[in-house]
Amino acid sequence: MSRAAVIGAGTMGNGIAHVFAQHGWEVALVDSASIALERATATIRSNLDRQVKKGALPPEAPGEVLARITPGTSLEAAGDARIVIEAASENPAVKFSLFEQLDRVCAAETILATNTSSISITEIAARTRRPGQVIGMHFMNPVPVMQLVEVIRGHATSDATTRTVMDAVTALGKTPVEVNDYPGFVSNRVLLPMINEAIFCVMEGVATPEAIDTVMKLGMAHPMGPLALADFIGLDICLAILEVLHRGLGDDKYRACPLLRKMVAAGDLGRKTGRGFYSYQTKQGERRLSP
Ligand code: NAD
Repeated sequence: MSRAAVIGAGTMGNGIAHVFAQHGWEVALVDSASIALERATATIRSNLDRQVKKGALPPEAPGEVLARITPGTSLEAAGDARIVIEAASENPAVKFSLFEQLDRVCAAETILATNTSSISITEIAARTRRPGQVIGMHFMNPVPVMQLVEVIRGHATSDATTRTVMDAVTALGKTPVEVNDYPGFVSNRVLLPMINEAIFCVMEGVATPEAIDTVMKLGMAHPMGPLALADFIGLDICLAILEVLHRGLGDDKYRACPLLRKMVAAGDLGRKTGRGFYSYQTKQGERRLSP
């Protein structure tokens, strides 16, 4: 039986633990907050139940999959993992400290992967004594549904580590794509300038958010328009990634749209706050749902 550890049980961590456990891995799911572990277990259970309802899994699967996931708050649980996938908060100080600790706690052969969206894999790897075994595994949200995993090689990542991770992703039923460590990797480097340009179109009055999203959905066959997607990702996250691109690549073509900055300053962050380019029903139901 292969053992994995997932660090961080938020939006991404619960999905990553779900997918590994569904494919037979024993998973230690670690979060510093017990409440996050409780929420993660409940989310995994309801996502597995949905898979059963859709006929994608047999009725006995949820119990078996959940039995392979061991939640806990101590990093020591990662000690005997073959691979660790870190999905804690997107904060360089948090990740650097976690990798220093994981390097101490884990066996010498353990691969340490990070799900970061924007922090340099090379810089994270440099915090450890095993930079050849540090790699990016960039899962997409929602993890159980999305097919892609961007596999990011840091400056020192070895061929053997890359091969092991590419094979592991394939065995999880997903498609790995190998890329090198530059700001935004490929996914966010291509996606965020498109979202940013759509926001410039709103700011300059070129068209309404609905019109811009309709052009991209019907004209370019995108399943979701860029502005609805920005609301889904979170406008604060979009701004943070654009700043990483701007700073890291030094090109003004990545300059964040002033309207994006203004909306973030106003606290209109998209779905999570109930308002972004569209309005959303919040849990209290005080806002009208437009798309
Ligand atoms: P989240 O805020 O939902 O979850 C982060 C979790 O990490 C929280 O439960 C928090 O308690 C925990 N945590 C923080 N510090 C910790 C520590 N020192 N030890 C253990 N647990 C700790 O965040 P998320 O959206 O799941 O994102 C996680 C990572 O995945 C980030 O690096 C993010 O950039 C990346 N990512 C997110 C998305 C997305 O769409 N949300 C997509 C791809 C990648």
